Amino acid sequence: MRLVIKYGGTSISSAKDIRAVANHLNSLSKKNQIIVVCSATSGTTDDLIEISESIKKENKSKAEQLASKITNRHKQLAKQTIKKTDLRKKLLKNFDDDFAELVALIDGMVLLGEVTPRTMDYLFSFGERLSIKLVSMAISDSGKKSVPLTGKEVGIVTDSNFGESKPLIDTTRLRVSKTVENLFSKKTIPVVGGFVGADQHGHITTFGRGGSDYSATIIGTCIKADEIWLMSDVDGLMTADPKIVKNAKLLKEVSYIEAIEMALFGAKQIHPRTFEPLLSKKIPMKIRSSFNIKNEGTLVTASPSSSVKNTVKCVSNIRNNGLIDIQGGSMVGTPGTAAKIFATLAKAGINVMMISQNPSESSITIVVKNTDLDKAVSSLEMELLGKIIKKLEVTTNVAIIALIGSGMRGTVGVASKVFGAVEKNKVNVSMITQGSSELNLAFVVKNSDTNAAVRALHNAFALDKIN
Ligand code: ASP
Ligand code: MG
Repeated sequence: MRLVIKYGGTSISSAKDIRAVANHLNSLSKKNQIIVVCSATSGTTDDLIEISESIKKENKSKAEQLASKITNRHKQLAKQTIKKTDLRKKLLKNFDDDFAELVALIDGMVLLGEVTPRTMDYLFSFGERLSIKLVSMAISDSGKKSVPLTGKEVGIVTDSNFGESKPLIDTTRLRVSKTVENLFSKKTIPVVGGFVGADQHGHITTFGRGGSDYSATIIGTCIKADEIWLMSDVDGLMTADPKIVKNAKLLKEVSYIEAIEMALFGAKQIHPRTFEPLLSKKIPMKIRSSFNIKNEGTLVTASPSSSVKNTVKCVSNIRNNGLIDIQGGSMVGTPGTAAKIFATLAKAGINVMMISQNPSESSITIVVKNTDLDKAVSSLEMELLGKIIKKLEVTTNVAIIALIGSGMRGTVGVASKVFGAVEKNKVNVSMITQGSSELNLAFVVKNSDTNAAVRALHNAFALDKIN
């Protein structure tokens, strides 16, 4: 089989774990063609972001301190992971060039006093630049040929939307397949840095936080992979957060569209665009843990086998949001009201998580993150209060509870079962949404009612017996 195997940062952040990963890849490569995609080691991207923040605040010494933290972390890992002296020395020497460039970059950014999206992407790319060398050298150390390649080197070409770029897929496919086929023919395992590509001028770009997942599916479609595995520290997608529901179960199989919903609802953080490339190519994906490789994890496919077509597959929750009820003066029957509200929020850079309006049009209710709440309220007040808006009613600390499962579509009685179960637990529901896709039914409760609501629904739909 042709496999793309992507590792999240936690899977490659100690010498022991990196060696385990290298050994696993070594044995898999005996029967399969493998291309590895890596995130940065744990905490490294956060540190790089903090470097950019420090430079913005003109705190050069803080930026330098963080750079040496990153340097030391990787030197230490190199020394502890690589057993063969010549390989270890080679890696350390190679790292020295990267560290020197990182310091020079920081100097340059400080000197110019300029932190642009383009320089930030260049800075953030160092995390994956370092991790791939470590993992690739560990594979060599285990006795298999391997080379590290950045996203740019493997051939990922993107637009120039720094910080949130998109691949130019035709060019990317040509370049990536050429690079990878060539390495496969030499029995060499490519270890590619996730998250990063380069635009047509060769400037480094990134896909945004968590973008390594997206890199893996882009590469998978370019080389016509048979499967893509996302390895991290969780066993797969679950029927609910096991911290809330003791008998939560691992989901053996879900569809792409269900997985997209589950990823958005944060059960496991997956980059939102990860599934996009798979929808047309229909490559199966597995979500697995590198710490428990006997476990097959969750299989994500275009159409899961019928044995697992439960009505509801999972109950997710997102706490700590704010609800704003926007009540109108002249909102009723006035075209463009919603457009004005959402344009105002968009201008303030606020992401709206839920929206509902009842047919009487007397109010529009939205949910945003608690951290965005003040900004959302003040921008609406400044732009629209006294005009189309008469009153804003705000509730802080609410949780979104979402039921996900494509089997809900067209099934009678789901809503009554949901709200019956919630009511029995004396939980008050303050907002409800269901898109007409019926893939996701979501409602809002107080933060403090989250656990009760999640448990009640897990129970009502017997999700502990799903497999
Ligand atoms: N290293 C990047 C991040 O932390 C990309 C990734 O991990 O997927 O966001
Ligand atoms: Mg990640």
